[in-house]
Amino acid sequence: GAQRSGLRVRGLTAHYGPVTALDDVDLAAPAGRVTAVLGANGAGKTTLLRTVSGLLRPQAGRVELGEVDLTGASAEDVTRAGLAHVPEGRGVITELTVEENLRLGALLGAARSSVRTPPAIADVYSLFPSLRRREKQAAHSLSGGERQMLVIGRALLSAPEVLLLDEPSLGLAPRVVSRIFAVLRELVDTEGIAVLLVEQNARSALSIADTGVVLNLGRVVARSDAATLAEDDELRHAYLGF
Ligand code: ATP
Repeated sequence: GAQRSGLRVRGLTAHYGPVTALDDVDLAAPAGRVTAVLGANGAGKTTLLRTVSGLLRPQAGRVELGEVDLTGASAEDVTRAGLAHVPEGRGVITELTVEENLRLGALLGAARSSVRTPPAIADVYSLFPSLRRREKQAAHSLSGGERQMLVIGRALLSAPEVLLLDEPSLGLAPRVVSRIFAVLRELVDTEGIAVLLVEQNARSALSIADTGVVLNLGRVVARSDAATLAEDDELRHAYLGF
């Protein structure tokens, strides 16, 4: 089998002008694991994903995918290397149909020489049957949950080694969140993808994560296996809001 590679971040530091959004952050998102990044508003979670995916340049530190150094690489090169970023706010192209959105993802998968065979669009429909029922509909007609399924499906079609998800549960009903998280968990277990899951909804995230990293004001304040974090009353009250 091909070598699966996870993500590693070392000493990552990012500023917006005078504001330090990330301060010397170390973390690993290994293949076949869900790693949750938790913390309140402004903790630096979105900045972490944007820096890893090449949208922001770090002032210091390194981003590595397996043996490949991606520090400072463009977003396009990062995607080609095998990292798929699903940003907050469900970036579907609303004028296109569900199927057309998915075809865009499939183009990326075909363009990239992957160690992984990209799934077919039909495989995405098997994961998320409600998308199949709406394949000819414009994406603007989808519910929030369906849009989230669509962007995740589109990301999977690029055959990523690492999937970065920014707040996939935001604004969704608990039942929909459970469904999406169950699919993610299955993909991680069967395909060995590395998932880095940014969530303010710490309770749900920890229920599917293997490990968690807690950020506060741009710094890592805790890291542990998910069960340990979920049972730590002090930490929960201070940083996780449940
Ligand atoms: P949220 O859940 O609200 O997105 P977060 O944990 O993702 O929070 P970030 O969005 O990464 O946090 O923000 C980290 C810090 O950087 C905050 O102090 C925020 O105000 C600041 N920040 C974020 N984006 C910008 C920007 N474009 N310009 C200036 N400061 C920014």
